[in-house]
Amino acid sequence: MIPYKHEPFTDFSLEENQKLMQEGFNIVSEYLGEEYPLIINGERIMTDKKKDTYNPANTEEVVGKISQATQEHANQAMEAAKERFETWRKVAPEVRADVLFKAAAIIRDRKFEFTALLIKEAGKPWKEADADTAEAIDFLEYYGRQMLKIKDGEPVESRPGEYNQFDYIPLGVGFVVSPWNFALAIMAGTTAAAVVTGNTVLLKPSSLASAVSYKFVEVMEEAGLPAGVINYVPGSSRDIGDYIVEHKDTRFISFTGSRDVGVRIYEKAAIVQEGQVNLKRVIAEMGGKDTIVVDASADLELAAQAIVDSAFGFSGQKCSACSRVIALEDIHDELLEKVKEKTTKLTVGDPVNQSNMMGPVIDQASIDKIKEYIEIGKKEGKLEAGGTTDENKGHFVHPTVFSGLKHNDRLMQEEIFGPVVGFTTAKDFTQAIEYANDTDYGLTGAVITKNREHIEQAREDFMVGNLYFNRNCTGAIVGYQPFGGFKMSGTDSKAGGPDYLILHMQGRTSSEML
Ligand code: GLU
Repeated sequence: MIPYKHEPFTDFSLEENQKLMQEGFNIVSEYLGEEYPLIINGERIMTDKKKDTYNPANTEEVVGKISQATQEHANQAMEAAKERFETWRKVAPEVRADVLFKAAAIIRDRKFEFTALLIKEAGKPWKEADADTAEAIDFLEYYGRQMLKIKDGEPVESRPGEYNQFDYIPLGVGFVVSPWNFALAIMAGTTAAAVVTGNTVLLKPSSLASAVSYKFVEVMEEAGLPAGVINYVPGSSRDIGDYIVEHKDTRFISFTGSRDVGVRIYEKAAIVQEGQVNLKRVIAEMGGKDTIVVDASADLELAAQAIVDSAFGFSGQKCSACSRVIALEDIHDELLEKVKEKTTKLTVGDPVNQSNMMGPVIDQASIDKIKEYIEIGKKEGKLEAGGTTDENKGHFVHPTVFSGLKHNDRLMQEEIFGPVVGFTTAKDFTQAIEYANDTDYGLTGAVITKNREHIEQAREDFMVGNLYFNRNCTGAIVGYQPFGGFKMSGTDSKAGGPDYLILHMQGRTSSEML
């Protein structure tokens, strides 16, 4: 087995890759606006009720017309998943892992098509969409290998005359609820982790980017996944989401999305329903309010670049995005100037066009929320850059910088999920870390410094699941930087990490007298 190595990013400065990207767009344009059925037990079910996904850069362009599942469909999917579980759980781990490896190979072959679809359906710039596709491949390659590592359980001792074994066995039927911001990677990663460990799933992708998830399920089928292992049931949380969370036979829920929805799932899952025989497990990856701390020793050029990339990459729509900067007083003004200068150079527009560095935000609700926060920011601090939107054809927000905020202002506390970053100052490094920790979230953070003591102090005291030094606070790589947060950022499940698969399994001890 070739050791795991992450999928390289595409160099789009090369003409040949630009051509391949064009071919990707051509393939996608052939199926833009198509209708997509549910998939239950391998069967395609076209429903009357459909929800369109559309291109957020050009709201008139429909990407997919997605069939919406009802509670009856959810029940059918649950029955199919329960039945299939009885055979899938016994399929050799090597065979299950092989499905992931084959799926990775298929996506790699169709990389530019998947990337083009993400550009259209999620509004990602080329670079971000390419990273999303690469991460999906990584999850498949990494979790496949992880399954091979844990398949024999952990060694335990045996006394003379007995034979003890400790294995991990699957849980049952999982409900995977995936987000639009990594519409391929996180959807594929959470689904693949659940199935490679021997579970079967009901997959409810985000209603804002569902076509790409349908294409993924097709890939898994092509890679040999039996019918009923992944049941594809798009629909709203009101129609089917809550219903499946509360279903007595749902064994675990793997959720990535907002804090509000995550907390709601966590609460609902805790209530034991009539006929339920398991306590449900919840794996939740929720929001962030991520800080970059810059001290007086820092390379300010590097700091400014890290802030701009982390705050405005994919228009700030990552739970890892930097939305707070805490700068020590001595360097604050110089850093702010550098960030402003870089920010005003960012080009915003349709991401189909490679030269645009920033695309749109995902939908109208999102742009409305961001505009509200821009108004709040104007009251709480000083607008230094951006603050405007362009809503003619799509949902564009210009990259926005505020200064003069207090660390506990609303702009510095509440997740905005858009291209807005706020600056505040601290009198010393200890205070900077205190301020950095003073949010409900604990997902990512970065410290830009040349001071070794500050690095060690942050390692001890900066309470985030992913702590970075002298780099962006976004862009965790599967198998290299396991990703997941503390506090209201989630259950600290570390996606792309060595203990992730076990969250989808239970330990079973067996002891045989010889
Ligand atoms: N894993 C991504 C990163 O490191 C963020 C995932 C998310 O936004 O949900 O930037």
